[in-house]
Amino acid sequence: MNIRSIIDENLPCWYELSFLETESAPSIIFRLHRDFVGYIKEKKIDFNNSFIAKSLKEEFELKDFLNDFDGDIGIGGVLKFLGVRGEFYEFGTKVPKIKNEEGKCLTCDGLGERELFNDTCPSCKGTGIGYIIDCDTVTAFSASYTIMSGFLSLWGKENTSSSKLPQLFSLKTILRRGDHGSTLNGEISIPLKTWIMSSAEKSTKMPEVVSAMRKTYSTMMGPGDYLSIYAYWEDDGHFYTQCPGNACGLCSEDFTEKGKGIKFSCHNVDLPEQQFTLIAGLAALHDRARKEIKI
Ligand SMILES: [Zn+2]
Repeated sequence: MNIRSIIDENLPCWYELSFLETESAPSIIFRLHRDFVGYIKEKKIDFNNSFIAKSLKEEFELKDFLNDFDGDIGIGGVLKFLGVRGEFYEFGTKVPKIKNEEGKCLTCDGLGERELFNDTCPSCKGTGIGYIIDCDTVTAFSASYTIMSGFLSLWGKENTSSSKLPQLFSLKTILRRGDHGSTLNGEISIPLKTWIMSSAEKSTKMPEVVSAMRKTYSTMMGPGDYLSIYAYWEDDGHFYTQCPGNACGLCSEDFTEKGKGIKFSCHNVDLPEQQFTLIAGLAALHDRARKEIKI
């Protein structure tokens, strides 16, 4: 079978991501075209049967993948069904709080300072408060996307959605423990690259993308400036986003051809919360592009 690519040609949209801000917490919204959902229902696809689902469920002790696309989907239903809007089924995951206060700081035993060094405790920054990290939701989100993403990224290249909108990007993720355990990569379509080139002429920064990533990260980890989170683009279609970590971020690949889309990959994305933050940025990029690209 000849697999088409959004790098080489415009394909009708079969899925997209969006970033939604609400009063309580922002959400990442995942939209699936009704033709894609219809295919899954018709073929009675059970994502639990895939090799990747079996291995992730065992390694991370995860719940089952819910497959009823008229309800919550994904591991334990982490993608909540929001309804059908126009030609898309919408699912959303609220950005969770990962760093939760509990007990006293173990480094300073709740004193807020280190007696030995006579300084403010670097772990709790003087508050004396301890915390626990709860990554269950971002791990379930990453596992759910990873389980679907191989199938998802191929579907619209082998099948044709009836949407009039173009697919703007494709995204694949992985999830495993250790270095590079939350790697992600994908393709930027021809219309999205063209839009980036024209938008980058006016500004080299991507304020919506930075804002979405900072809101996502601060919701998860608590208030902070998070100046290491930034994003910019260039008028040749290249773009970069970065989140907290060891030079952790997304970047488009060097090679680009006139009139074609461009691939992107990542650097040092070790943790699901980093992957989640970078996906929030991509979703915000997609929102602005979808509004401004006139087809
Ligand atoms: Zn402390």
